[in-house]
Amino acid sequence: MNDEGTIELNCEARLNLRNLPAYIDRIRERLESYDAEATQREGRVDFRFAFGEATFDMSKLIMRARASDRDGLARLKDLLATTVEMYAKEESLEISWSGDLADDTRLAQFREMEVVDVHALTPNMRRIRFSGENLARFGKFGGMHLRMLFPSQDMPDPIWPSLGANGLPVWPSDAQRPTARIYTIRKLDLGRDLIEVDFLIHPGEGVGSAWAARAAPGKKLGVMGPLGRPVRRASWFLLGADETGLPALARLLETLPAETKGIAFVEIADDGERHAIDNKTGIELSWLPRNGVPAGEDMRLADAIRTVSWPRTGSTFGWFAAEGTAARLVREHWRETLSLGRDETLAAAYWRRGVTGVMAA
Ligand SMILES: Cc1cc2nc3c(=O)[nH]c(=O)nc-3n(C[C@H](O)[C@H](O)[C@H](O)COP(=O)(O)OP(=O)(O)OC[C@H]3O[C@@H](n4cnc5c(N)ncnc54)[C@H](O)[C@@H]3O)c2cc1C
Repeated sequence: MNDEGTIELNCEARLNLRNLPAYIDRIRERLESYDAEATQREGRVDFRFAFGEATFDMSKLIMRARASDRDGLARLKDLLATTVEMYAKEESLEISWSGDLADDTRLAQFREMEVVDVHALTPNMRRIRFSGENLARFGKFGGMHLRMLFPSQDMPDPIWPSLGANGLPVWPSDAQRPTARIYTIRKLDLGRDLIEVDFLIHPGEGVGSAWAARAAPGKKLGVMGPLGRPVRRASWFLLGADETGLPALARLLETLPAETKGIAFVEIADDGERHAIDNKTGIELSWLPRNGVPAGEDMRLADAIRTVSWPRTGSTFGWFAAEGTAARLVREHWRETLSLGRDETLAAAYWRRGVTGVMAA
């Protein structure tokens, strides 16, 4: 308990790193992208997140985390351990947390979910509702996405991951491991413990698409999340997505403040794929049907985005989620041609033509 009467959970881990000072700027930059406020003082860097606090003590080579609940502490341990492992790859780092919840083996970000109902939103899109227990954390941390863990025909009863002493998931052997793919939480109903996901049924053999095509009430899968960084607030947005980015784009149109202005383009196979979105903003939405051109081969979405001129005043943000080539063209245009910064743009590859299991941008 702290002075304000709320519970305080604390933990720490030693960092047996020779070169921590060489990584700390990149660690700081990554953690700041999760909306952390950083303060650097002699020998230490402090991070304040909405859900807790973290410190890197450079002289004692220790990282510390503090939060008021289990979800917050688990999120901090995962974020800190992932970030340090990412930048300290050359050193054989072994993170072992001590303190509150150090013996916990339940993975806070994991839930087993059960299909409640399935309906055809459009000819190519299936909206599936899942029920699970205690879903509050999926509305926290500003992340919109899930790592969905699918059973497959080869692996009908996979073993779900648990929590390691380093704060990261421990996976079973390949022979028992579920197949992971990323999807967006289209809707979260905390009152009824439900999550809704819109699955594109795409051509080609894909575990995610095939699972969704056959899903029926009572089927189970695992989810981990939420994933992703919070989308920066701005008064004007330029949004672009194909069918895979549409669930996230629709969520933005439903949740951004009403006074937000801007332009949104959504690429779809044909007009039969249009569906109702409760756009609460002043962002104008246009649909771009491919009309027979295969997904990933049509550049009209990237072209439409690249012809928009950005306002010269006010805060602006460019958000794009589609196939890898289109995402690269848009990223290059925004970053190199228009010289916009990382904090003003996000152009992500949500899938790549001919590539299986794309996990991130
Ligand atoms: C942050 C994020 C959020 C996402 N949200 C959603 C979402 O809400 N709904 C959704 O449907 N998808 C979403 N995706 C995209 C989804 O993860 C990919 O399409 C993924 O490849 C699907 O897995 P799969 O097992 O069906 O196919 P894979 O096994 O990954 O791929 C098999 C084959 O299918 C091809 N393929 C994959 N996707 C497509 C496609 N869209 N069109 C045509 N061919 C394709 C691949 O190129 C490959 O040749 C998201 C991706 C990211 C990174």
